[in-house]
Amino acid sequence: MSKSCQSCGMPMKKDPQGGGSNADGSKNNEYCSLCYASGAFTQPDFTAEDMQRFCVEKISECGIPRFVARLFTRNIPKLHRWSA
Ligand SMILES: [Zn+2]
Repeated sequence: MSKSCQSCGMPMKKDPQGGGSNADGSKNNEYCSLCYASGAFTQPDFTAEDMQRFCVEKISECGIPRFVARLFTRNIPKLHRWSA
């Protein structure tokens, strides 16, 4: 249903896999393939803050200024994974 990953906030259409994968190999539409693979989070120990920091790093590696990257990631704590 959701249009962006409920862990990192990346738009699903930017995910080359089109979503994460469940333990049985089916698609998971809530989380992207970077966050969720084979039925488990790829970074199970992350907090919302860790995820924000991680994403700011990744985004700024693409040449985007950090303050813009922080804007992109400011809603991360409100996503399903963190608000439950
Ligand atoms: Zn994700």
